Amino acid sequence: TIYDNFLATVGKFGDNLALAEAASGRTWTYRELARDVEALAAGLLRGGVGRGDRVGVWSPNRSEWVMVQYATAAIGAVLVNLNPSYRQTEVDFALQQSGITVVLAAPAFKDSDYPAMLAAAQQTVDNLSRVVIFASPEWEALLADPAPEEVAAVAAAAAGLDANDPINIQYTSGTTGAPKGATLTHRNILNNGYLVGELLNYTDADRICLPVPFYHCFGMVMGNLAATSHGAAMIIPAPAFDPAATLAAVAEYAVTSLYGVPTMFIAELALPNFDDYDLSTLRTGIMAGSPCPEQVMREVVERMHMTEVSICYGMTETSPVSTQTRVDDELQLRVGTVGRVGPHLEIKVVDPVTGDTVERGAAGEFCTRGYSVMQGYWNEPRKTADVLDEQGWMHTGDIAVMADNGYVQITGRIKDMVIRGGENIYPREVEEFLYTHPDILDAQVIGVPDAKYGEELMAWVRLRDGVDDFTAADLAEFAAGQIARHKIPKYVHVVDEFPMTVTGKVRKVEMRSEAINLLG
Ligand code: ATP
Ligand code: MG
Repeated sequence: TIYDNFLATVGKFGDNLALAEAASGRTWTYRELARDVEALAAGLLRGGVGRGDRVGVWSPNRSEWVMVQYATAAIGAVLVNLNPSYRQTEVDFALQQSGITVVLAAPAFKDSDYPAMLAAAQQTVDNLSRVVIFASPEWEALLADPAPEEVAAVAAAAAGLDANDPINIQYTSGTTGAPKGATLTHRNILNNGYLVGELLNYTDADRICLPVPFYHCFGMVMGNLAATSHGAAMIIPAPAFDPAATLAAVAEYAVTSLYGVPTMFIAELALPNFDDYDLSTLRTGIMAGSPCPEQVMREVVERMHMTEVSICYGMTETSPVSTQTRVDDELQLRVGTVGRVGPHLEIKVVDPVTGDTVERGAAGEFCTRGYSVMQGYWNEPRKTADVLDEQGWMHTGDIAVMADNGYVQITGRIKDMVIRGGENIYPREVEEFLYTHPDILDAQVIGVPDAKYGEELMAWVRLRDGVDDFTAADLAEFAAGQIARHKIPKYVHVVDEFPMTVTGKVRKVEMRSEAINLLG
């Protein structure tokens, strides 16, 4: 189980740095972290929380998040990750849907007043019996030294757990619609975190900088569980993503591994004083979460000292990672594919209509099977049956191409594919092309309704500093002779930001509805 594995690390690497929080300057060794985790676990037991009970955590990235993650795992409570950007209706729904009894939450942060929203929720959500705010006197009481019999109770609770117990309900990002609560076990996420770390050659000398949200598996599994299963350190650069704070933390804590979704790396690379940060301790890291443009990957390797950077592909429902590039892969494979199947997993690419495996090199739906596949969506048997088949395959909804050597490329989501005049267009391919334009910082392509062709392409672009304008005519001129005519977007829309989920994914659903308004 997760707690057994954590204690094994504490036994081996007790004096190592486990956790650092740049905002407060606080640090914990593994021994110190284990003390806080044990105290919190005892405090939760004292409050009547036990195996299988749902405990919500609602907070941006803070040290307390990590304590809650391991304390709930110790006593077998099911941790429910509440999205830090939720507002009242959304949190009320999640609290009810997952039957949460206790929520541990951050004090108000920016425009999110967690305590006020939880006070309101307590009026309407019957199952919610207790709310504790980090750093409050009640929180400090939970962390007080436990009595010897309470310590024994934690050990007894931990000893009674099974690796196949559900331990976590993680909501998906909500990129394509309402988020779904994936139910995950110790076996699911501990193995995934450990194996992701193995492929990055993590040891107890590594320090991992985590600007990615803990609320999401990228932070709590690929980050925290990969770190604690190897004795490596977790570095929290800031509560919410901040490119300058991230690079400052890399320098301050001599970080060896940096994580991010593509937009985070784009923002870091674009910092005007980028060259002032000492990134020389960086060795590796992960880019994942959405399509990783080749251009950006090359810059990460060349300018950020991350020669062993890896791309991972996966989804919340699969703990999350299914494929990963290996640090010794040749560069083109590491920047141009999402790698090959992870250890102990199976993958296949199928025709979404017939379900038959397609030939190598042909596009189809990516499916995976093995230890990583979730138990199901919490209390949603019908939605579960839509994605998990009787043979145990998870149907991802992502379009993939697998080459003869087993390396995979993700060419888009089935839902994002554009059909223009009967021809399938993968926006991803057009986006990759747009990134090669010197004025374009970031680009996204969607389909918009069209009377003649059914759909037309629209490019949304963010421009580099100092560039004022970019039009469809500019694009047409640049693209002529470079890509097929039907793949040249008819419309160009310049924006400062894309609509994003808190996990850093571009919400194309929102872009499509806004585009329809734009076109009148
Ligand atoms: P929802 O399911 O709620 O619409 P979501 O699918 O974005 O949201 P996540 O589970 O956070 O929620 O994200 C998984 C998805 O992210 C994958 O299905 C895939 O579309 C995309 N993705 C993840 N990693 C990569 C990658 N390396 N390259 C391309 N796409 C990726
Ligand atoms: Mg999804």
